[in-house]
Amino acid sequence: MSYVSHLEGAIDAAVLPARTLQTLHVGRPIWVRYDLDAVRDRVDRDAIATRAATLWRYHELLPAEDPDHVVTLGEGMTPLLECPRLGAALGLERLLVKDDSQMPTGSFKDRGQTVAITMAKFFGQRRVAIPTAGNAGGSMAAYAARAGLEAWVFMPEDTPQINQLEALQTGARAFLVDGLINDCAQIVAAGREPMGWFDLSTLKEPYRIEGKKTLGLELAEQLGWQAPDVVIYPTGGGTGLIGIWKAFQELAALGWIESATMPRMVAVQSEGCAPIVRAYDRGERFAEPFAGASTIASGLRVPVAVGDFMILDAVRASAGTAIAVDEASILEGMRLAARCEGLVICPETAVCLGAAERLRGSGWLAPDARVVICNCGSGRKYPHLMTAALPRLSSAEPCDWDRLLQGPGP
Ligand SMILES: *Cc1c(COP(=O)(O)O)cnc(C)c1O
Repeated sequence: MSYVSHLEGAIDAAVLPARTLQTLHVGRPIWVRYDLDAVRDRVDRDAIATRAATLWRYHELLPAEDPDHVVTLGEGMTPLLECPRLGAALGLERLLVKDDSQMPTGSFKDRGQTVAITMAKFFGQRRVAIPTAGNAGGSMAAYAARAGLEAWVFMPEDTPQINQLEALQTGARAFLVDGLINDCAQIVAAGREPMGWFDLSTLKEPYRIEGKKTLGLELAEQLGWQAPDVVIYPTGGGTGLIGIWKAFQELAALGWIESATMPRMVAVQSEGCAPIVRAYDRGERFAEPFAGASTIASGLRVPVAVGDFMILDAVRASAGTAIAVDEASILEGMRLAARCEGLVICPETAVCLGAAERLRGSGWLAPDARVVICNCGSGRKYPHLMTAALPRLSSAEPCDWDRLLQGPGP
């Protein structure tokens, strides 16, 4: 038995039954709610440290009915790395990177998929489908294979090749669509009845948030049951930001964190696709679709987010902010992290470095703030962004060493 008490419509707080298959409620996402009093009574926070190093160590705060029958690839408890050299480059004395590039399929999408696929299987689903602009499809395909479910993946034509490959390698039926992720989402929605699949789109079922929530639970545990001062999060659909904030709410309700201070949540987007930042700047709770969305950070190319108000609520409730960064800073940020710390970060995370620098510059971030940036995925999935500029050498001619020395550095 899980500690789930009920599900709740995020837009109207309607109480919905747990243990039934759920998608959206009045077109908006659903929260999973727990009997936190029972968890507080029966679970010893400090005993968690002795459990296996996967995100399922927090199973009392997750929806699976039986923690021994979850669909897992050993995901979670990724390192929280101190980054003094990268921090110094950004003017931050206490920068930490939560390195989710070390997840089974190389991105933090695995957090959501291990939980969502576990629940889909529990509810008897045989076929699952997802629209994806990047890592979600590969992750879902891997967990579906692990669970023995059939996976269908729909992605824009310009989805990074490695993400296309991931879906194929793990046996998914994969398709390229001449549109954006919301066009792919429409195909998945249209196929729900005729194809009989379960729609695992971001926030269209309640459980991916719960998986992403473990980012916040791990952060708290790794910091000795404290919250960081600031979490800087690259925001596409926003599951992670919503999940981290939910984690700290639940930890506070449980009395599991040492101080009452909550992290300030920063939503970062690229100027090429910044619907959430625009709504934040206008003081609105819902975001308008972002026309002409375009960014090399494919995980952020989300012109319409069905959980927009959940992201904006978390940002405002936490006294955080939302900020857009220019595209040019992305490759620069990827090189900077690699050079300073040997960390191969994804373009989405590089967007956060640009944001940190700007927020430091404006004084919004104090130099001694304990700042966490999530490295959401491996930069090794984006060879096309980095290798195009490699200089060529002719094997037929002797090397001009002076020219090599003067060439562009790392
Ligand atoms: C999906 C993804 C994001 C965006 O995450 P959301 O939770 O959808 O906002 C950022 N970075 C990477 C690498 C991703 O795969």
